[in-house]
Amino acid sequence: MAKRPTVQEWLEAHPPKCKRCENLLAVFNFENFNNGKINKLKDVDGEKIKGLYCHHCVDEAHKDLMESRFLEEYKGEKIYQKDDMYLPYWGCMYHFKTLEECRIRIDASDTVVLPWGGTASRNRVREVLGVE
Ligand SMILES: [Zn+2]
Repeated sequence: MAKRPTVQEWLEAHPPKCKRCENLLAVFNFENFNNGKINKLKDVDGEKIKGLYCHHCVDEAHKDLMESRFLEEYKGEKIYQKDDMYLPYWGCMYHFKTLEECRIRIDASDTVVLPWGGTASRNRVREVLGVE
């Protein structure tokens, strides 16, 4: 039976490449993650995307990913879709099962719950308090 390779041996046999430009990436270690020489992408729901990117490609790859998830703009907010999840903004920790619920959430984001109960629109509260 063949001996299992060590992590080091495996990395030497399969040097990490950028998923987009296919250039070899810097040495695969924690420091190069920290200084941005090796990058991973996070999906709209915070899930890590498989594959690594060089610093030349990471912004483009992120843009492409955002475009692929973008569904529509609603009242100035971008709604994203991933599988059967609808998210009211990028990096959102929760999601909705329908686009309609997602729109309702965006409508409600302009509503403030008052300390004594009830709700008012954000603009009305700003007006009364005289704040920008
Ligand atoms: Zn690249």
